[in-house]
Amino acid sequence: GLDRDAILATERLTKNFGGLTAVDEVDFTVDEGELRCLIGPNGAGKSTLLELITGQLTPTEGRIYFDGMDLTQLPPHERIDAGLSVKFQSPHVYEDLTVAQNLQVPLQRVDSGDLEATTYETLDEIGLADRAETPAGDLSHGQQQRLEIGMATTLEPKLMLLDEPVAGMSVEETASVADLIRSLNDEGMAFVVIEHDMEFVREISDQVTVLNQGSIFRQGPIDDIESDPEVKRIYLGE
Ligand code: ADP
Ligand code: MG
Repeated sequence: GLDRDAILATERLTKNFGGLTAVDEVDFTVDEGELRCLIGPNGAGKSTLLELITGQLTPTEGRIYFDGMDLTQLPPHERIDAGLSVKFQSPHVYEDLTVAQNLQVPLQRVDSGDLEATTYETLDEIGLADRAETPAGDLSHGQQQRLEIGMATTLEPKLMLLDEPVAGMSVEETASVADLIRSLNDEGMAFVVIEHDMEFVREISDQVTVLNQGSIFRQGPIDDIESDPEVKRIYLGE
């Protein structure tokens, strides 16, 4: 079941790949409006956990509850309709379409009341109002990532999942994505952000979950996590 304040809860969620247990009986809970960072060494199971939540992967065992519903058997598009949004690791913008047209792609799935208004509101939010007519392929890496986060926000999700949103970005681009995530979170959107860059984690959130070998290893404020010798040890792979 789902705690009263939770928007997302996984229950003993498990994924085996052959003999490998990538996600191992994970109970992962996110409250409404929360911004949670998910960290852990390479191969810990972070991306697999995210893909189970979005429906890209089917769990071996366990359940996924979201906003009062059991999503475990639903296909990805029905999870999006339920208010779950995702931005995977690599950019997936339509390079030949303009920035404005890209923002309208997700809106074509729904009977959106005011396409223009939503487009311009989102352009403003992601700081690309002056690039509305630019082909997305001409944007910088950071601008493309902001555009893709913008595309994910047009359907007004209750929870957004981001897998390493600032990988390969400059300091300035990283700061602009941090600002965008913080402002969307201030408006009430909950986030799960998978991230390696601890400076970035510190900028956007103080609550961190550490995954290791498919299990939740630690959970708590970033200062406690960063000073924990056991966390340092798993990162060194000892
Ligand atoms: P992380 O995102 O934390 O780096 P992943 O979730 O990508 O970790 O991977 C967790 C483990 O599952 C790793 O050992 C990885 O090799 C394995 N794995 C991930 N996806 C697959 C797959 N499609 N087939 C087989 N093994 C996989
Ligand atoms: Mg990963």
